[in-house]
Amino acid sequence: MAAFAPSASTSSWTPSSWRTRPVAQDVAYPDAAALEAVTQRLAVLPGLVTPNEVDRLRKQLADVAQGKAFLLQSGDCAELFSDCEPRKIDAKLKLSLLMSLVLIWGARLPVVRVGRIAGQYAKPRSKATEMVKTAEGEQEVLTFRGDNVNAFAADPAARQPDPQRLLLAYFHSSTTLNHIRGALGSGIADLHAPHSWSLAHVRSPALQREFSSVVDSLGDALHFMKVVGADRADGVRGSLESVDYFTSHEGLMLEYEEALTRRAAGVPGASYQTSESPSSSEGASSGAHYTLSAHTIWLGDRTRQLDGAHVEYFRGLANPIGIKVGPSMKPAELVELLALLDPKAEVGRCTLICRFGAGKAPSLLPPLIRAVRASAHADSVIWCCDPMHGNTRTSPLDASIKTRAFGDIVTEVVESLAVHAQEGSRLGGVHLELTGEVDARGESVTECVGGSMELSAEDLSRRYMTHCDPRLNYEQSLDIAFLLSHSLRA
Ligand code: PEP
Ligand code: MN
Repeated sequence: MAAFAPSASTSSWTPSSWRTRPVAQDVAYPDAAALEAVTQRLAVLPGLVTPNEVDRLRKQLADVAQGKAFLLQSGDCAELFSDCEPRKIDAKLKLSLLMSLVLIWGARLPVVRVGRIAGQYAKPRSKATEMVKTAEGEQEVLTFRGDNVNAFAADPAARQPDPQRLLLAYFHSSTTLNHIRGALGSGIADLHAPHSWSLAHVRSPALQREFSSVVDSLGDALHFMKVVGADRADGVRGSLESVDYFTSHEGLMLEYEEALTRRAAGVPGASYQTSESPSSSEGASSGAHYTLSAHTIWLGDRTRQLDGAHVEYFRGLANPIGIKVGPSMKPAELVELLALLDPKAEVGRCTLICRFGAGKAPSLLPPLIRAVRASAHADSVIWCCDPMHGNTRTSPLDASIKTRAFGDIVTEVVESLAVHAQEGSRLGGVHLELTGEVDARGESVTECVGGSMELSAEDLSRRYMTHCDPRLNYEQSLDIAFLLSHSLRA
């Protein structure tokens, strides 16, 4: 490892300058030449998204930072290549659209939809190895690091990192995104029949009444808009039939991100430069570097070291970025991190995705809000709540099953809303792990306990389908949307 540059903010940035810094959660590839061949291939393939689309998200996130829109970032903890099926992608897309409708109704604000999708493969892990049962008995194997690194199957050979998986990740992301673009272009967003949403799972009569009244009002409002033609008032995009949907993933695999980094060309007819293009200084974002692996990527709580490789890579990107903020983040550290990642304090560039755990926001969040308010970033950041990652528990019935209690998730969201209100700040969005996927009989997954279906620990074994963290199911996700919608309106 080369020596550190004295200060990241003053040293020059290149898409590969992260290589001079320590890489947390590094993957040790046994064959460096094979990795190099893969990254060379990725470097000449088309970007998965375009700088123009990324700029559109930047503008929408600037609205979120200014309180003019609300951010809904949601999807799987870890996608698998086998998730790249139309039925599964549609289920995720539809759930995000339904939730955003409920939120728009409640918050009376546009919702910026960002999926953890089309590239959310890599996972940080707390342990490098684990013990598994194999035909030869109990064996120590490398942990599963995501489908773009190794295979889930619990055998030593399958768990070896294979760089070809990065290429497979690119092609699965591309196919997923192609399906999303096609579905949105063919009217999947025209879901405006709230009366057909089943609330049969809601056990409590009081909650049933409350949710039905939201659905009734939403249905009436949409019907009225259709009658007066207001749903088409602003032309093609942004109308109720067609919506923007952006992609995101954790920016963990820096070799992959570097290989998909492109310089915006700012010349007509070419949205970015390949290594053969002449350089140009024309255009709004020309010269800026974008990762074209997704519209936005986030920095994980385990890879946000100030002098680390991930911070170095992220600071040079023109993409808007997320920063996970866990309980160990100190106020001064957050201010320093923002200064490194966003020296110009661009409005909406950084989304602070706070994930403390139920009961912790009242003590941990106020000092962070105050420190940011006293910094150059007072008006530029988005405060977002991830009520999932601080609330992972093991099932009381089986210590090998991870779960989350719906009550803890709601508590963290409610606490976060209350703290922002108290501090004169604003919660700009939520970051959720969820899935609209159902099994062959049309039944939702059972990974988190509670919610209006009142799932118990006994229910978890019925349809536990995640390969990583437990996700809210279809009904629990709508429960959250209704609850948020209610709170944001209050
Ligand atoms: C995640 O979002 O899946 C994740 C691993 O989060 P964190 O970095 O906050 O632990
Ligand atoms: Mn997760």
